[in-house]
Amino acid sequence: MRSLTKKTLVVASGNAHKLREIAEIFTQFNVVSQKELGFVEEVEENGRTFAENALIKARAASQALGCIALADDSGLCVNALGGQPGIYSARYCGHHGSDQENRQLLLQNMQGMADRTAHFHSAIAVVFPDGRELVAEGQTFGDILTEEVGEGGFGYDPIFFSHDLKKSFGVATAEEKNGVSHRFRALQKMWALLQGEENA
Ligand code: IMP
Repeated sequence: MRSLTKKTLVVASGNAHKLREIAEIFTQFNVVSQKELGFVEEVEENGRTFAENALIKARAASQALGCIALADDSGLCVNALGGQPGIYSARYCGHHGSDQENRQLLLQNMQGMADRTAHFHSAIAVVFPDGRELVAEGQTFGDILTEEVGEGGFGYDPIFFSHDLKKSFGVATAEEKNGVSHRFRALQKMWALLQGEENA
């Protein structure tokens, strides 16, 4: 049962996995999705960085609902490609949402490349109704494999060999991946930042 004394933290995402991960870390809040509170508007993510896009989403939810709002933006950055696909990770193949096509295009574009180092990056933004804004970022490092290994996870997981886990994210369990993930690291930093905020 939800505590009536806890403040509400609205999350600008409908992704159930993200919501659970956030609720497990931010236990001082009632964590709810923006959809649960009736905010379903799609905001245009036209920022130039992960942090700008996370802020755009958090500001929209906070302003519409009058609550403290949290949003994240994440993606994969490949060194040999100058940081691409970066903020375009979800639509690297030209349209939104085909993880398989995104992975195949990346493998194709990296054919013969010796430097396969890469990292996932996550930016978490929290915006308060009074206008205060916080941003925390996290990364997790690895190499882009030459073919898919495993079918677990989502997005680029099957072609990402994690330096922390010494295996593909595609064969890692959810617990293993969550313990070293870019998002988990950014969320932990945000949790620490919120401890320092009055009236959080
Ligand atoms: P979003 O910020 O959750 O929308 O993620 C943007 C895109 O980055 C996703 O569609 C994936 O392609 C990629 N991505 C972000 N985080 C991960 C991850 O943990 N594993 C694999 N792909 C990811």
